[in-house]
Amino acid sequence: MAEEQQIRNIYCIGRNYRMHAIELGNEIPKSPLVFTKPSHAVAAMDGELLPIPGDRGAVHFELEIVLRVGKPLSPGMNADECIDAMTLGLDLTLRDVQSRLKEKGQPWLEAKGFKASAPLGRWLPYPGEEGLKDLSFTLIRNGEQAQLGNSSDMLFPVSKLIEHIDRLYGLGQGDLIYTGTPEGVAALNDGDVLEAFWGKQLVGSNRIKLV
Ligand code: ZN
Repeated sequence: MAEEQQIRNIYCIGRNYRMHAIELGNEIPKSPLVFTKPSHAVAAMDGELLPIPGDRGAVHFELEIVLRVGKPLSPGMNADECIDAMTLGLDLTLRDVQSRLKEKGQPWLEAKGFKASAPLGRWLPYPGEEGLKDLSFTLIRNGEQAQLGNSSDMLFPVSKLIEHIDRLYGLGQGDLIYTGTPEGVAALNDGDVLEAFWGKQLVGSNRIKLV
């Protein structure tokens, strides 16, 4: 199993699955849409209660493949060699806040960067960009399937994301990349039980506590 590492930058990709962009009424991007979360946003999908804001409008779940960078990209290197582990994570989003920010043309931090907005499952070995397509990922909410995704549906594949982020912002050991969510996002309710599956393997779970 992949070991724990200090987490540094948390890059996230918006609208990387066509059907999710459409469900929120957004345009299909022509290049990767990148935003970040503070490292303090990290929380564990460890089966325990996950306290999230209950007083700022809807909090949506977005289940995503998360990649961890083990070493920087250097000339001639295959983008896959940068990644040393993968897991599934939730890009939790204060959707009403985000809609307000979008209207005003303001940054998304308040909607995307709150404490515990980046729960992560346990780290798994990274099978490479091609190997990643062999398994689908699923979010089960209260026993029912809420989201189903496969990396083969990404608008910008992993290698493209790595090259893009490295070129514009830099990538180094301990950085994470949330690679975008498939369709099915919805608002969380107090007491919801979330389970994230990679293939048939449970990689993380939480019970939601609105506070
Ligand atoms: Zn997302």
